[in-house]
Amino acid sequence: MLENPDVIDASNLDPTFKYDISTQLGGENIKRCFQCGTCVASCPIWTIDEGFNPRKIIRMALLGMKEEVLSSEFIWFCSRCYACYEQCPQDVRITELMGAIASIAEREEKDGNIKIRSTKPILDKAFVNSIRKYGRNFETETIISGVLATKGIKGLLSYVSDGFAMLRKRKLGFRPEKVKELGQIGGIFEALEEK
Ligand code: SF4
Ligand code: SF4
Repeated sequence: MLENPDVIDASNLDPTFKYDISTQLGGENIKRCFQCGTCVASCPIWTIDEGFNPRKIIRMALLGMKEEVLSSEFIWFCSRCYACYEQCPQDVRITELMGAIASIAEREEKDGNIKIRSTKPILDKAFVNSIRKYGRNFETETIISGVLATKGIKGLLSYVSDGFAMLRKRKLGFRPEKVKELGQIGGIFEALEEK
């Protein structure tokens, strides 16, 4: 472990990381990046938090800083707004690239190699489960399962009064409504799982 965080420890670099990313759906063009920074200039998340810098994340990935990139909370910050997508002169397709890096992080966490420092994958999973069950997002259940998984029962109880206020104002629903095409949606999930 290096004492100075600004110094890169070359012995920890994984030169195969960029090839791993480029074989993922959406990660194919990572090696095209020539570090112009246009993506950063168009990124709305960067204007709020300069810690999220897509150019830097790509540079670190190209250098082989696998552990640092995959353990970084910033790889989950992309809002998928596509503002950078059209601007990139090298067609790196950053929006999809961020998804590819996030998929690798989930795989590596499953294999016990890293620890993801974000609650976003858990909340994403709660959202996807809701779509699968009802064909649409049942926010009440998504929020409850997301908060339970990330903050536990104590965290959930701290939101009870806000939750009831939202239910009273009909900002949240009491019961889920299933879409008529639920069978078709189930078919889409099965096809994805087969892949
Ligand atoms: S705009 Fe494209 S080429 Fe420029 S730094 Fe971003 S990803 Fe790299
Ligand atoms: S898609 Fe992601 S990286 Fe690109 S501009 Fe939007 S938030 Fe930033």
